[in-house]
Amino acid sequence: MSADDVAVRVDTEVCIAGGQCELLAPDIFEIDDDEVVAVVRGDGRLPRNVALEVIDRCPSGAISIVGGSDHIPASGP
Ligand code: SF4
Repeated sequence: MSADDVAVRVDTEVCIAGGQCELLAPDIFEIDDDEVVAVVRGDGRLPRNVALEVIDRCPSGAISIVGGSDHIPASGP
């Protein structure tokens, strides 16, 4: 863990359980046993750059940084 780690959360009302987050960060995200939503493992902390990529790739916008601003910068081309 580094000082630039952030904690993430999943809005289970919004998640569509596509599994992109689990593919990108399997140590942090896991589709629940019912395959309905993604859940965060442990404290949900991961490097900020990984968090931003997962947030960018989540098709439903369900993932956010805990305590972060509402504005998430889009990743570059
Ligand atoms: S990428 Fe987003 S929509 Fe897909 S399982 Fe993860 S949190 Fe849910």
